[in-house]
Amino acid sequence: NFRCRSAFKLLEIDDKFRLLQPGCSVVDCGAAPGAWSQVAVHRVNSAGTDPAAPPGTVVGIDLLHIPPLDGAYFLSCHDVTIPPTHAKLLELLPGGQAHVILSDMAPNASGFREMDHVKLVTMCFSLLDLAEKILLPGGSLLCKYSDGILAHELQEKLSRVFNSVQTLKPKASRKDSAERYFLARIYKKPEK
Ligand code: SAM
Repeated sequence: NFRCRSAFKLLEIDDKFRLLQPGCSVVDCGAAPGAWSQVAVHRVNSAGTDPAAPPGTVVGIDLLHIPPLDGAYFLSCHDVTIPPTHAKLLELLPGGQAHVILSDMAPNASGFREMDHVKLVTMCFSLLDLAEKILLPGGSLLCKYSDGILAHELQEKLSRVFNSVQTLKPKASRKDSAERYFLARIYKKPEK
């Protein structure tokens, strides 16, 4: 049983792109109540359910409390966009590195679509700083965004540091919502 229907969006994306392999280290940004983390724990084997497969790691972060989940470390009441949280992640991840960064983060809706869009995309920009600190070369980033004036700039920034960037609209996502996901794959460290 999943804690939230959003699990089906990640299942659908992962069934197609196979981002979450046994043994992988995954950071789940905006993890509460924990449905994406449930999917990640299962797929990377971080609870060690399959003794024949390598065990992975899942670290979830949210501003809100995230109820405990076997196989996941949770940083509840933490803001993903600030450097002190990045420092904690570096300590929790094996070797300070992740194969995959997931983000289903969303700001509290103000009701003003343009304002919510700018807030959400600004949060996505901060994921690029996080990636620079923890994402392994060849790693992936899946992040929720919404269509609007900054979407193209976000796509461009992602394209500078990932070999492949595509827009996804999972079937499990409501058709009338502006919600989209960028799947950015094959990370290359940015040039200084
Ligand atoms: N993927 C989750 C699941 O499957 O259970 C649902 C995520 S929910 C749509 C979005 C979450 O993003 C909210 O719980 C919210 O508190 C969190 N969030 C928003 N801004 C955040 C931030 N700056 N740092 C951490 N979490 C944030």
